[in-house]
Amino acid sequence: MSDKTGIRIPSRLPLLLTHEGVLLPGCTMRISVDTYRNMQLVKSRLLRGTSLKSTIIGVIPNTRDPEHDTDELPALHRVGTAGIAVQVVGSNWPKPHYTLLITGLCRFRTLQLLKERPFAVGEVEQLDQLEQHASQALLEGELGELGEQFYKHAVQLVDMLDMSVPVVAKLRRLLDSLPKETLPDMLASMIRTSNSEKLQILDAVGLEERFKKLIPLLTRQIEGLKLLQKTRKPRQDEDKTVVAIRPIRKIGHFPGGQFSLDTAEEAEEEDEDSDDIALLEKKIRSASMPEPALKVCVKEIKRLKKMPQSMPEYALTRNYLELMVELPWNKSTTDCLDIHAARVLLDSDHYAMEKLKKRVLEYLAVRQLKNNLKGPILCFVGPPGVGKTSVGRSIAKTLGREFHRIALGGVCDQSDIRGHRRTYVGSMPGRIINGLKVVGVANPVFLLDEVDKLGKSLQGDPAAALLEVLDPEQNHGFTDHYLNVAFDLSQVLFIATANTTATIPPALLDRMEVLQVPGYTQEEKIEIAHRHLIPKQLEQHGLTPQQIHIPQEATSDIVSRYTREAGVRALERKFGAICRAVAVKVAEGNKVTKTDPPPGPEAAGRREKVLESLNSPADLSLPPEMPIVMDRHALKDILGPPIFEMQVSERLSQPGVAIGLAWTPMGGEIMFVEASRMEGEGQLTLTGQLGDVMKESAHLAISWLRSNAKTYHLTNASGSFDLLDNTDIHLHFPAGAVTKDGPSAGVTIVTCLASLFSGRLVRSDLAMTGEITLRGLVLPVGGIKDKALAAHRAGLKRIIIPKRNEKDLEEIPATVRADLDFVMAGCLDEVLNAAFDGGFPVTSRHDLLNSKL
Ligand code: ADP
Repeated sequence: MSDKTGIRIPSRLPLLLTHEGVLLPGCTMRISVDTYRNMQLVKSRLLRGTSLKSTIIGVIPNTRDPEHDTDELPALHRVGTAGIAVQVVGSNWPKPHYTLLITGLCRFRTLQLLKERPFAVGEVEQLDQLEQHASQALLEGELGELGEQFYKHAVQLVDMLDMSVPVVAKLRRLLDSLPKETLPDMLASMIRTSNSEKLQILDAVGLEERFKKLIPLLTRQIEGLKLLQKTRKPRQDEDKTVVAIRPIRKIGHFPGGQFSLDTAEEAEEEDEDSDDIALLEKKIRSASMPEPALKVCVKEIKRLKKMPQSMPEYALTRNYLELMVELPWNKSTTDCLDIHAARVLLDSDHYAMEKLKKRVLEYLAVRQLKNNLKGPILCFVGPPGVGKTSVGRSIAKTLGREFHRIALGGVCDQSDIRGHRRTYVGSMPGRIINGLKVVGVANPVFLLDEVDKLGKSLQGDPAAALLEVLDPEQNHGFTDHYLNVAFDLSQVLFIATANTTATIPPALLDRMEVLQVPGYTQEEKIEIAHRHLIPKQLEQHGLTPQQIHIPQEATSDIVSRYTREAGVRALERKFGAICRAVAVKVAEGNKVTKTDPPPGPEAAGRREKVLESLNSPADLSLPPEMPIVMDRHALKDILGPPIFEMQVSERLSQPGVAIGLAWTPMGGEIMFVEASRMEGEGQLTLTGQLGDVMKESAHLAISWLRSNAKTYHLTNASGSFDLLDNTDIHLHFPAGAVTKDGPSAGVTIVTCLASLFSGRLVRSDLAMTGEITLRGLVLPVGGIKDKALAAHRAGLKRIIIPKRNEKDLEEIPATVRADLDFVMAGCLDEVLNAAFDGGFPVTSRHDLLNSKL
């Protein structure tokens, strides 16, 4: 029944598939678009830059399950409604989508799908006339009776509504003035109908059919209203057949009028939603918020009630309110601090670290006596894997408080701490407020992990935001940008961790009390492994001590040959690897029976190695009755060949090599210095990514040696005391990829060059550290403890340290001190004498002076 004279829609239409309801001609509907094809359609056919194009599109109800919105285009419903978008709103929250407001024009039938990508386009046939006034003759003729019957029902229904509502009065007027053929579609979208009923109206292409379909629906609505008026109840939830026209909330655009165009499903959703809002309101009242927060919430919920759900701001406001009610405004745990129990707990969770545990107990005791948390924030500084986080967790446990870790590494945006203002799309609260929501109490222990790795960017300085969080004078009124009301953080116990204090912003460092957590000695690591790490790993892998036995020697091997670290994290991972390998064997053993065919020779060989320590190799495939013992072979099989079998002595087999000691945020490390000389013009080449201070140390060392060449009998290749005469020197600091800086390599460079020019070997069991002056004095340096531990780890026996560092020896664990021979050097003369077997030079200075005389 296409019309030859009326307005025509194009014969090719971009097709929008929606499962959100059925758009009928003459009605306006809000459609949310988020599938790939629909998004493409909106982008390329409806938007021109940011303005709207008035393109006619075909809207086809998608009757398939929205979950199945796959790549494939579903079978299209045969009839659709051509429509025009009157509004397009884009949003990125919670995921990218558009909300379209579309007014239906007329029905069409899809004849053929012309393309599917990037969006569907179909060849269509127009089904309805698009004229303002249909021929009255047709209606009054053969359809007159049916039309009249329909009209009567419509009038009866509208008359039952409250005429004092302006929109109802307008509707009543429209019933008379609008062409009757447009009424069925209009009324179908206003009364309570299900989607399938609407679909039937859409499919009813002929007007007669449409009248016939709609009359029963109108009757049902009238009956429903009658029942409602009789019972005088606003709504009867139990009786699903009761239908009513709901209060008009959404105002859509309709040619000639403004009407409610909600669908039945939406209606139910909205009713549920209003229940939700009531619930939310109740929660707000019972959240015991402080007055200002409550005021904001009440205001927001009032706004929410007036807002249509499809507005992006609706979800934003709702999320905000949900966060507000979830925050622990007035919820906290009671501290149950008993210093004696705390001591026992700290001791049982952590081996060694006596100094730290002592300080933590003092801190807790003071807090208990003062009964408040004002005071410096504890900051644990040390290499990774030494138990900083773990002590933080124990503190929470001893206090009976909730624990939450906030990782600050790489945070470079203020809003990470303080949240984004709510005006932004995708705005969220900062990590502090989020943490409080997670723990659900106002007095947790917050561990601010890696405060030394805070970044800075154009989005503001997160350290400045942290200052407010950590300041006990200010943090009772901490205002997150997202919340926009103050939250009291004064009950939160903050603990910070860092690898180094060097990169902590000074103002932040000022608020904290730094507690150094040094690395562990070999012995301590072995103890920690047996007391804590191994039992923990066994439990995590479902193994028992009856299934695997790791003897002390194996642990010692893993510590020295498979790991080189200050903490125990890599060590723990190695045990994890061992447990995994054993778990496989145990699981296999449980399944394999004696009658199983023998495995291939290669597999058997491998298995034999792992389980070498089992008594009878013939029983390998049986569940082990004896524990699998980790010996060297098993270790090699599981962990591969040892990683750190460094032959220090091998590297020192030539003159011109010495070992220095360096401090890094990862702990102490030994560092080789190599020197070589060649013919040249007295140039010094330095390689190995050195910082300026280190380069200066190298120049100092050369100058000092040149000025003392005669004293120490040092000559260049041609026998001259002028060491740089016709000679170039190259100094290299291996591990060339790692940047090195600092003055403490001075003594090592001098020793290395002295070895080069004298042709004598430096003692192979020796490492050293110390800054030098041009006059040959040795000045003190930092990190002696970590450096001594590193030398000990590497199996060295003698360490030269500056005399003024003697006081630092106390910090070094007694076992390490006993293993090492410390030489205190006040000047370079003493360094060189200790560095070479038999002193330096071999002839004493006294002899030299005599010979000169
Ligand atoms: P950090 O925070 O210093 O990087 P963690 O606290 O994460 O290190 O510790 C790494 C692992 O080592 C944890 O499993 C921890 O339990 C364990 N650990 C570290 N030090 C000790 C110790 N002294 N006693 C027992 N376990 C320890």
